[in-house]
Amino acid sequence: MRKLLCITAHPDDEAGAFGGALLLYHERGVETFVLCMTAGTAARNRGTARTHDELAELRRAEFAASCRLLGVTRGEVLDYPDSKLDSADPAHAVRDLVLRIRRIRPQVILTFGPDGGLTGHIDHAMAGTFATLAFEWAGRSDRYPEQMEQGLRPHRVQKLYYHTADFHLPDRQPISQPTVTTRIDIGEARFERKVEAFRQHTTQAPLFERVRKNLGQRLGTVEMYHLAATSSPRDAKAETDLFEGVADE
Ligand SMILES: [Zn+2]
Repeated sequence: MRKLLCITAHPDDEAGAFGGALLLYHERGVETFVLCMTAGTAARNRGTARTHDELAELRRAEFAASCRLLGVTRGEVLDYPDSKLDSADPAHAVRDLVLRIRRIRPQVILTFGPDGGLTGHIDHAMAGTFATLAFEWAGRSDRYPEQMEQGLRPHRVQKLYYHTADFHLPDRQPISQPTVTTRIDIGEARFERKVEAFRQHTTQAPLFERVRKNLGQRLGTVEMYHLAATSSPRDAKAETDLFEGVADE
């Protein structure tokens, strides 16, 4: 069974950044999983929520609705502090991600690069940094051996990708983006569905116009990724398929 795991920072990243790839690979029969590190409670746009807990509940429900539209097999929202992922304990965060990788056993992981993926958000950068360490360490028997005592086995993920693009968003802090290695053409219909998935995040409605503009005018129907690491050494080359060269296990 082919499996894709997407590691994000906030509810709505799964749609805005990775939605096209999630849809496309679901349609190709790949089991898809999303792990979101925060419940997004630092958001300026809070919908009807009066408290932190109410916003967390709303955003978790919106995340679930978005995942349903994207055909995600299983989505999970962890409880790390929104807007403060750079103060999360790395040992704890990476252990949490390694545990999920060893349970899910995906061949491919999608996440953000240390640039913070297009918006340069610090949480994106941290989620991607934790995910990169987890990608490396999930396959090592000397990392978190206590998980093996619970019946889990080390798991080597074959490919790690960072979300990237061949343009900058205006009026942002400068970022240096990972090189584009992989262009995924998601087509018009999947693009519309990705926008619809984003719109499930109704607490974020004030962002809809700007996001639609950024997605539509800039990314359009192509999602871009950077192949950051592979379990078997190889030279870089341009790809159009995240599962290119993936061996069946
Ligand atoms: Zn985000």
